[in-house]
Amino acid sequence: MKKRTISLMGSTGSIGRQSLDVIAACGMRVAALTANSNVELMERQVRQFKPELAVMMDEKAAAELKTRLDDTDVRVASGMDGLLEAAQIDSADTVITAVMGMVGLRPTLAAIRQGKRIALANKETLVCGGQIVMAEARKYNAEIVPVDSEHSALFQCLQGNRDRGEVKRLILTASGGPFFGYTKEQLEQVTLAQALKHPNWSMGAKITIDSATLMNKGLEFIEAMHLYAMPPEKISIVVHRESIIHSLVEYCDNAILAQMGTADMRLPIQYALSYPQRIPGPATELDMLSCPNLTFAKPDPDTFACLGLALRAAKLGGNAGAVLNGANEAAVGLFLQERIRFADIARLVERAMNEIPVQPVSKLEDVLEADAQARRVVLEHVK
Ligand code: NDP
Ligand code: MG
Repeated sequence: MKKRTISLMGSTGSIGRQSLDVIAACGMRVAALTANSNVELMERQVRQFKPELAVMMDEKAAAELKTRLDDTDVRVASGMDGLLEAAQIDSADTVITAVMGMVGLRPTLAAIRQGKRIALANKETLVCGGQIVMAEARKYNAEIVPVDSEHSALFQCLQGNRDRGEVKRLILTASGGPFFGYTKEQLEQVTLAQALKHPNWSMGAKITIDSATLMNKGLEFIEAMHLYAMPPEKISIVVHRESIIHSLVEYCDNAILAQMGTADMRLPIQYALSYPQRIPGPATELDMLSCPNLTFAKPDPDTFACLGLALRAAKLGGNAGAVLNGANEAAVGLFLQERIRFADIARLVERAMNEIPVQPVSKLEDVLEADAQARRVVLEHVK
């Protein structure tokens, strides 16, 4: 297999750390690492993986990292310029986009324009700017291979199908999160600590909250539309509490292909790097004889209003994805600071969607503008 050289954006996060497990186990090389402010972990990662470039988004953190790495010849950069440099670094053939949030959009576009393979974890990028990202990927012949477990499952189940016309439906599985079965009234009472406890997956704070509101599944619905050029009518969601089937593809002959495995992100991360080959790696084995019964249920986008709003944005198209995502990022940020309640997240996203007119998106500025407007609506409300 081609030994990949990787620029890893968001190396100190949940996906970033698991990516480094895969990279170490599979003997791949690292060209660049980026983080926001976690200098301590970044220093350890740099000493272990010896990239050419280390980037901290935060200027002060970058200055501290530079001092700490004085005895090495690793270059340290900062801010968006640093992220863009890491995304385009010559020696990397692959960029793993594992930063949190829509800050990943510009670096992803920059890497695509260099024709690099994108191992895409950063779903906010496609939700906000999917039209632009996919068009640029086609233009520059850049492969986008998903890391998100559902989209990796779909990607795997789509291998070998000759014609997208044969696909009847993409089926995304959803764990349902920690509050599955709750009523609207019960959702009004949930606390931050409860929302941060996901039953099956261990992830960064923002996506854990998105999984509790089911916004995560809504973002994934829009992500799937862009990645696989599917209209919303051809995508459905099924609640599957056990997180063993990671998603399914139904074909026109009614055959359904599913991808199964343990809830271990190292498998989809590795496949995004090894594709089209499969190689042994660190992901845990699934023991079918000790796994629980597999169950399936209908999602409830009325009670879990964030899911309903995301499905509305999916149908609206244009800048609606950027508005949904921008408002959600701002609202989840406030919830994590305990400045709003859990159920306020949906209320604030809905307010932004109601106030900001739907417009077509043709360039990056349209996306950035919609994102900024949505964040403003949310922040004004809590001022
Ligand atoms: P984490 O919060 O664990 O990590 C985020 C990473 O991005 C960290 O390295 C962080 O640096 C960095 N970062 C945060 N804010 C900024 C910023 N403003 N500028 C530059 N870098 C920043 O997130 P996850 O790893 O859980 O998720 C990353 C992405 O992957 C998200 O888009 C998420 O939706 C997606 N994803 C995650 C899955 C999971 O299992 N975790 C599954 C599927 C998708 P620092 O540590 O210094 O703050
Ligand atoms: Mg997912």
